[in-house]
Amino acid sequence: MTAKNLDGKALASKIRQSLKEKVSLRTAKGFNPPGLAVILVGQNPASEVYVRNKRNACKEVGFHSVSHNLPKETSEKELLSLIGELNADSSINGILVQLPLPNHIDENKVTESIIPEKDVDGFHPYNVGRLTLKMPLLRPCTPKGIMTLLAETGIDLVGKEAVIVGASNIVGRPAALELLMARCTVTVCHSKTVDLDAHLKRADIVVAAVGIPGFVRGDQLKDDAIIIDVGINRLESGKLVGDVDFDSASQGASWITPVPGGVGPMTIASLLENTLQAMEIADKKG
Ligand code: NAD
Repeated sequence: MTAKNLDGKALASKIRQSLKEKVSLRTAKGFNPPGLAVILVGQNPASEVYVRNKRNACKEVGFHSVSHNLPKETSEKELLSLIGELNADSSINGILVQLPLPNHIDENKVTESIIPEKDVDGFHPYNVGRLTLKMPLLRPCTPKGIMTLLAETGIDLVGKEAVIVGASNIVGRPAALELLMARCTVTVCHSKTVDLDAHLKRADIVVAAVGIPGFVRGDQLKDDAIIIDVGINRLESGKLVGDVDFDSASQGASWITPVPGGVGPMTIASLLENTLQAMEIADKKG
């Protein structure tokens, strides 16, 4: 069989449309729209693309969007001071610092300096802790987007074998927590995993987040598996490809996310959802 396309581009567009309607209802009543501050330090070309996409998405749904493009020499102290100002600014509901940061800045310190209620990336230990304890508040965007995509398949996830390849703080680990919360049996593989093939072969759901083009191949997969490809890799030719070899994997899978147009747009849609949620949290606090 050939896998069905799990179309993140179309789903993200639906989510943006629904957010746009919520925002216009709110602003029609005279309330402020949700506000997102996006901070970029330095000139990493991939980060510039991600940040531009996030800012454009904010504009499309009518969010108040503030951009801070800082030079790569910005000191940690200066960055923390800007975050302190944004933490205190009531027109800003979400603060996003695009990673990676230049080496002289401690990413953990920066992540922890954003107040958890404005941590729309969901990276603060408070938000990760809440997810760990099955009481999520602001959820890490990429794993959240993956769960929204999985819900689109209509397949009951309870008891499914989920194998995640990659154990990063921003994708693999929180994806494991999400899938565990959905009552899957979860295995997290990483660069020291001894027999990756054995794990992949029994997986009903595979999440590939490795950063190596075409790393997961069709012959490693169980028939009818759902394949979520998180990877975004640019080949020398300029072509964007995922961590899954799409042509071979789509032969036997039931569902597969394309790259581009799969998880990427869903990450941004989740960021927008989180920003609206952060505003609702702020509203409740008064
Ligand atoms: P990372 O480099 O932080 O982590 C990679 C993980 O892969 C590590 O845990 C490592 O142990 C594991 N790994 C490396 N080699 C391996 C091997 N041979 N076998 C098994 N595991 C191995 O990467 P990341 O930040 O999680 O990103 C992974 C990919 O996802 C990248 O291509 C990145 O661009 C992409 N990404 C996409 C989105 C999106 O929105 N679609 C978001 C974040 C990251």
